[in-house]
Amino acid sequence: MQAIDTLTPCPCGNNAGYARCCGLLHEGGTAVTAEALMRSRYSAYVLKREDYLLATWHPSTRPVSLKLAAQQPAPSWLGLDVKRHEENGAHATVEFIARLRYGGGKAQRMHEISRFLREQGRWYYLDGQFPEN
Ligand SMILES: [Zn+2]
Repeated sequence: MQAIDTLTPCPCGNNAGYARCCGLLHEGGTAVTAEALMRSRYSAYVLKREDYLLATWHPSTRPVSLKLAAQQPAPSWLGLDVKRHEENGAHATVEFIARLRYGGGKAQRMHEISRFLREQGRWYYLDGQFPEN
């Protein structure tokens, strides 16, 4: 298995590399912005860090399980493009487009406008809307 601290660029696209970007948050660091949290959650999908995804999901909307390991066909994540990031006090919105492919299928875009809430200094994913592309 590949050592994850050699992931350069970071799965979220940051040229600084995983260990200096999303890896810090996956190891317990605090996301300073909702965008940083959103990027780390994208990287967690890439790396199948279901524990991290659930831990950063707001308890009011958090699913019991994501069953990422059992997903068939498994998605291949191809890239992340953050379009917009707005923070207003304890609320934030991040709009992004993730590209992925299922099995040998063709690449598709997932366009999401995510809402985040900050509680006790930590950002949590609340929910998302999926506008028409
Ligand atoms: Zn990253």
